[in-house]
Amino acid sequence: MILDCAIIGGGPAGLTAGLYATRGGLENVVMFEKGMPGGQITQSSEIENYPGVTGEISGMDLMIPWPAQCQKFGLKHEMVAVLRVSKDGDIFKILKEDGTVAEAHSVIVCTGSSPRRAGFKGENALFGKGVSTCATCDGFFYKGKEVVVIGGGDTALEEALYLAKICSKVYLVHRRDTFRSAPNTVERVKRTQNIELVLNSSPQEVYGDEMGVTGIFIKNNNGEIRDIKVPGVFTFVGNDVNNQTLKQKDGTFLCEMNKQGEVIVDISMQTSIKGLFAAGDMRVAAPKQVVSAAGDGAVAALKAISYVDELLNH
Ligand code: FAD
Ligand code: NAP
Repeated sequence: MILDCAIIGGGPAGLTAGLYATRGGLENVVMFEKGMPGGQITQSSEIENYPGVTGEISGMDLMIPWPAQCQKFGLKHEMVAVLRVSKDGDIFKILKEDGTVAEAHSVIVCTGSSPRRAGFKGENALFGKGVSTCATCDGFFYKGKEVVVIGGGDTALEEALYLAKICSKVYLVHRRDTFRSAPNTVERVKRTQNIELVLNSSPQEVYGDEMGVTGIFIKNNNGEIRDIKVPGVFTFVGNDVNNQTLKQKDGTFLCEMNKQGEVIVDISMQTSIKGLFAAGDMRVAAPKQVVSAAGDGAVAALKAISYVDELLNH
């Protein structure tokens, strides 16, 4: 049986694509998710910027009802990792980790992205308990408090500026004395009174107690150790787009990608390959938020419905 639509990834983008595709009339829709559905937000202890959801709610609690809502409209879920999506004529082939291949008329890829870890001691243990990779998500928890930001690229500097509006002070820790970030952003950072530049310095160890982070040791390139007592540490040391499923046998990508490995899409989430859509964190210029990933999923599914209808009925 050829699926009407295959959805790869079951985070907010994939689940919303599944909801809209099935409710919008596509018959055979399968979401391939390698783990439990819900996506990276399930790692977050609190989410307070999803519209309409008030009160204290964890990322896991937010996502728990989503799969059941989709299943009500007929979305099927296979718990398996997808290795590769390719296209043969009008048919997409989905190679799964167990070696089997599914076929589909359309594909929506929603495999998200993974913030890189910087690799210092305590980072993994305290991740989600004061160590964060998302200022929009977690910055507000440190309103009026001091935080450390690690990194010297555009993301680190832009997020440091964002945090400086909420927090009393931002220590911007960077391992060199020049930045990768755009010069005007560097100038804005230098002009911001409550950002202290801690240059030629790298994080050594973040520490804390049962409540979470309480401080971080920073080592200067000259060997000096500085103990900065803060409840929040934000690391912005680059992001990996989970684009491996689009890589073909010859190493090229199935569709057009940008230099950062993000999928290039139009405003309908259509890639350069007909019938192939990408939604959520993995697409170009993604705001990397649950609400926008869900919106992308809905847009992609609506377009996939018209694509399949056109392909099969006209
Ligand atoms: P993801 O959520 O990354 O989901 C991708 C899914 O694809 C995953 O479930 C993964 O298992 C699956 N997958 C990947 N590869 C394969 C494969 N080969 N085969 C099968 N399945 C695969 N956003 C907010 O709006 N507010 C917040 O407060 C907030 N807090 C955050 C806190 C933390 C700690 C983190 C890490 C992120 C936070 N975010 C927050 C960002 C938000 O989680 C993401 O923007 C959102 O989850 C992106 O959704 P997505 O569906 O595009 O991708
Ligand atoms: P990035 O440009 O790769 O910068 C990562 C930063 O983290 C670098 O300063 C790097 O230091 C540092 N770093 C890496 N590993 C580290 C480690 N283990 N410990 C400590 N520091 C570490 O990543 P990004 O800032 O996320 O940006 C990614 C891409 O998106 C870039 O092309 C960027 O221009 C783009 N972007 C653009 C905008 C915009 O246009 N407004 C906004 C955000 C991102 P070194 O410099 O020493 O290598």
